[in-house]
Amino acid sequence: MMTLSGILQNMAQAMQVELKMGCLDTAVMGGFSTFIIKCAQKACDSCENELARHNLTVLVPLFREYVAKDKEERKKMVEYGLTVLGQVKAAVNAEAGGERKEKPPVVEQVNGRETEKPVNDALENQSLQYLKNIGPKRVRLLNKLGIYSITDLFYYIPRRYEDRSQLKPFYMLAHGETETASGIIVGLQEIKPRRGLTITKAALRDATGIGYAVWFNQPYVKKQLIPGKELIVSGKVDKKFGQVQITVADFEVVDDSDNVHVGRIVPVYSVTEGLPQRVFRTIMKNLIDSFGDRLAEPLPDSIRRRYDLPSINEALRNIHFPEDWNCIEEARRRLAFDELLVLQLGLASMKISQLRKVRGIAHKKHGPLMKRFMDNLPFPLTKAQQRVLESIYRDMESPKPMNRLLQGDVGSGKTIVSAAALIKTVESGYQGVLMAPTEILAEQHYLGLRELFAPLGVKVSLLTGSISNKEKEAVLQDISQGRTDIVIGTHAVIQDEVVFQKLGLAITDEQHRFGVKQRARLQQKGHYPDVLVMTATPIPRTLAMTVYGDLDVSVIDELPPGRQPVKTFWVTENKRQRMYEFIRQQVKEGRQAYFVCPLVEESDKLDVEAAVETADRLAQVVFPDLRIGLLHGRMKADEKEQVMKAFRDGKIDILVATTVIEVGVNVPNATVMVIEDAERFGLAQLHQLRGRVGRGSHQSYCILLADPKTDEGKARMQIMQASTDGFKIAEEDLKLRGPGDFFGTRQSGLPDLKIADIVRDVKILEMARVTSFEIIEKDPALSLPEHRELKKLMVEKFKNKYHFINIS
Ligand code: ADP
Ligand code: MG
Repeated sequence: MMTLSGILQNMAQAMQVELKMGCLDTAVMGGFSTFIIKCAQKACDSCENELARHNLTVLVPLFREYVAKDKEERKKMVEYGLTVLGQVKAAVNAEAGGERKEKPPVVEQVNGRETEKPVNDALENQSLQYLKNIGPKRVRLLNKLGIYSITDLFYYIPRRYEDRSQLKPFYMLAHGETETASGIIVGLQEIKPRRGLTITKAALRDATGIGYAVWFNQPYVKKQLIPGKELIVSGKVDKKFGQVQITVADFEVVDDSDNVHVGRIVPVYSVTEGLPQRVFRTIMKNLIDSFGDRLAEPLPDSIRRRYDLPSINEALRNIHFPEDWNCIEEARRRLAFDELLVLQLGLASMKISQLRKVRGIAHKKHGPLMKRFMDNLPFPLTKAQQRVLESIYRDMESPKPMNRLLQGDVGSGKTIVSAAALIKTVESGYQGVLMAPTEILAEQHYLGLRELFAPLGVKVSLLTGSISNKEKEAVLQDISQGRTDIVIGTHAVIQDEVVFQKLGLAITDEQHRFGVKQRARLQQKGHYPDVLVMTATPIPRTLAMTVYGDLDVSVIDELPPGRQPVKTFWVTENKRQRMYEFIRQQVKEGRQAYFVCPLVEESDKLDVEAAVETADRLAQVVFPDLRIGLLHGRMKADEKEQVMKAFRDGKIDILVATTVIEVGVNVPNATVMVIEDAERFGLAQLHQLRGRVGRGSHQSYCILLADPKTDEGKARMQIMQASTDGFKIAEEDLKLRGPGDFFGTRQSGLPDLKIADIVRDVKILEMARVTSFEIIEKDPALSLPEHRELKKLMVEKFKNKYHFINIS
């Protein structure tokens, strides 16, 4: 196996040769650029150093574009490549050196004065044990809190603060309140009124009189309570018989050093057993006192000045040990900015790398196929659908790869838009793929699109995890040999074995169910295919900026004509009978209904049991005269298909299902959606489920069966009753649940936010977004010295998430 330095050496050599040979992509047999890309990937795999790895990943998309560039630009690319290689080597060497000896903070002569350089490097590489008061046991406890390095500790932000800065004279303390006071210790007493109870009591004198501080069962505090010293105490006040007594929650004997636990605004951290608040706070104070002014500044001065942000040192000092409340806000603003900036830098670098003139596919102008498709449509397109299609066509015709998000509320008609785009790619001689999150949905799309496409001679194939091996073999062959035009499927379409002959357009439906990673993998199935992602979960703008920050956005903001808004009713258990009557009535009129049973505690099995039981009950007791169907995730694919088909064909009156039907399912004749235990669902999910009805011209109904115990639960049901606007519901959901739950960060592929809150910090998010684009445009690989620290933060944040930055 080749060593890392060997690979780097080869790369550098090839680059030099390529320069000499006039940048004809001929320095290496089989193509210079291909060689560099392969080497960079290989080097990445064998490289432990994050910074170096990040640098290497930058080379991949860069050299993918090499062939498409003219000589002048190629020369620049190779020169740039050499610079990057230099940086990689430096990073690797620095690490190799750093492991052998511990670097002490570097002392430098500046203006004849000895000043210490920022010790960020040294600090980062130090273990936590390097700090005062920390031994192996405490290291383990800190690890439990997710703190592994000194940097982690710096960024471990207080959960809240307590204002213990207002020292009141004893006579002003209010009974029953938590207050802070101070006095000279003038007496000390230990009382044991009964077994198992020790009361330590200190008499304190201030200018106005005497007060008592008491501790229950903490005999060890006695040692610190030296008469004559000043003591600050904070705790609940008891006033009786003219005596003032404070039950001490926290205290501190005053000496020369700063106050830590009382007499100030005090940080309160999330701590763990074995690591009390006082101990943690002391560790933090030591950290800030020893190193709090020596962190290297990640933000260039110009940015800091523009937005009037405090320095990183000031911000971290103030977030932990603030002078006043205002400081905290300023510090938080700064730290939130950094966090969002790093996130946006990742997105911006993706978007910019797409903007740089990558040559994708220039689809042809419309021809006869598109005309026939449009002539055969079962309905005229809405204005919104036409407008959105115009943008999509424009993107597709341009040689620059399309990267577009299509947002439209449930039922707004996204499928037909994607169909038109697929036709365009076929007409231009390419293949198209449409990926959906569930088999049911993939199947439905397959059936629907086949009906539209078959008369036009466009061949459609279905690829899901559950088709037989033999069939699959045939489909894979068709795809790779270009016999099929359109592939529709589940995750199965991104498996390695799927090779397209000529992929021109990649579409994901219900993108919110996929991660960024899967979207990228689909895209990589071709050579810069155009990409369209569709989602019905209408997400608030701020969130869209974070999750889809690298995409252009189109919105279908109009429903097809003749739709009546779904009427939603929240009913409690005692109205169940009346609801059954209502459903019977609807079925009599020729309509159909869904019955959705909730997910039970993430357990697929119980989930299925609940559905089976409901179906049995409905079939035997409630509606013995009606046709009841059952659909759940544990059924075999062909069973599912049969049930869906029967429901579509009107051979089932009531379909009992788990949330497998949540997305995409389209049966316009179904007009009733009953959701059992509706309080267990998130709002966005309820909205999606409700979207399964109201898809035709009949009045539809959504019935939420729920007896919520909490106010939040009730609020959710009321929002659903009051609004059918997906955007409004999403905003409310975001407020109720917070961004993490709303849009599982795990799913979206984005790093968690620790400090920033995208609901509250919209302004900061916008600042960060603008700034990130400026930076990336000027310095795409963040290789300028002023961006060095930012880059480190970014590398840290996107650890193991390179797929995300690296999409081009
Ligand atoms: P979604 O945006 O939720 O994916 P679909 O594409 O499934 O919505 O469309 C919902 C229903 O509306 C389908 O039955 C579809 O045939 C119908 N539809 C879509 N566009 C129109 C239109 N312009 N006029 C009438 N019906 C339409
Ligand atoms: Mg859909």
